[in-house]
Amino acid sequence: MKSSLPPSWSIDQPVRASYLVFGRPDIHEKDIQSVVDTLRSGWIGTGPRVAEFEGAFGEYIGSSHALAVHSGSSGLHLSMVALDLKPGDEVIVPSMTFAATANAVIHAGATPVLVDVDPRTMCLDVAHMEASISTRTRAVIPVHFAGRFCAMEAIMRLAEAHNLFVIEDCAHAVETRFQGRHAGTFGNMGAFSFYVTKNVTTGEGGMICTDDPERAARIKILALHGLDADAWRRFSDEGFKQYEVLEPGFKYNMMDIQAALGIPQLERVEANLKRRCEIWEQYDDAFKDLPLDTPEEEERGTVHARHLYTVILDIDRLKSDRDTIQEALHRQNIGTGVHYRALHLHKYYRDEFRYKPEDLPHARWISDRTLSLPLSPQMTDEDVYDVVFSLRKTLQYYTH
Ligand SMILES: *Cc1c(COP(=O)(O)O)cnc(C)c1O
Repeated sequence: MKSSLPPSWSIDQPVRASYLVFGRPDIHEKDIQSVVDTLRSGWIGTGPRVAEFEGAFGEYIGSSHALAVHSGSSGLHLSMVALDLKPGDEVIVPSMTFAATANAVIHAGATPVLVDVDPRTMCLDVAHMEASISTRTRAVIPVHFAGRFCAMEAIMRLAEAHNLFVIEDCAHAVETRFQGRHAGTFGNMGAFSFYVTKNVTTGEGGMICTDDPERAARIKILALHGLDADAWRRFSDEGFKQYEVLEPGFKYNMMDIQAALGIPQLERVEANLKRRCEIWEQYDDAFKDLPLDTPEEEERGTVHARHLYTVILDIDRLKSDRDTIQEALHRQNIGTGVHYRALHLHKYYRDEFRYKPEDLPHARWISDRTLSLPLSPQMTDEDVYDVVFSLRKTLQYYTH
């Protein structure tokens, strides 16, 4: 791999002709054909393809019930609603996550209690979780950050001691496992996301996994207006079916069009993980001497899903902040992400729950320094080289 840049290249010039989109989905001809077949089939709503995807996903995860929904956020919301939380009930959520994790708690009528994360793993800090448990705490939502398996053993021990539900946010963690057992099967429920940037995508989509048959049945009803079982068949060739509303539910069902994309995506997930690992190692090798920290190695006995490659910029050794560096990469045609600006720093949570930035120092520290580099299985070696070149040049330029 060699640079094709003119000798006069400057920091504001693209390093490549086309923009390298962050989190670009990996869409094959087979995926397109699968969606087209469904469109032609005459049944595009919730139906046989969704049932097939649920079966394949449940089998892959090793969960007896997998319930498809139309986003990771709706999965988190339903899992909260299914706990019958009351006003004043508290749910512990790490501050280093996407807004959907905490919003699900609020939409279910309860209060999120934000806790700090371990600065090394970026997953929930178990000691801070323990210190945050009150008489009102009902549940905890650990987030398997970037695809890294959280300290579930310690979390489950605390949860049992304090009678808490555990809902795993597995949005980054389809492939994540510990001793062969998948993330999402350790707590009471696991919520997965198939958003466009995620390792398996259905455009928008999600899945709730649980081994509890009663909770699964309730969630299935809640996901379709609260109608009784199999109401989705009501327009099928089996004739119109009468239905009954059992409780006020939501419109969170997945469509067959989405599932038709998810089925071939899921078939490739392990092959894609191998490519993700290769890119990961290329990045690790290329950035050893730069003013940044690369991600920690995965914990022993775990499989990391390699969803996000997040570096921590050593901004004390740089003349600029993270946003300036991200802007420079953007001008060079390299798209990156920020995962995340901690929730307790955002206006709503700050104002509503009275958080100060210094309350959760690790999450705040990460917020200012983290940068996610492109990591998708369809990236070529040249794409990887462009990212490496661009980041190296940019950090050199901005080093004191
Ligand atoms: C993507 C994501 C969600 C929400 O998933 P959607 O499918 O986009 O609704 C929730 N939590 C985390 C950590 C995520 O990354």
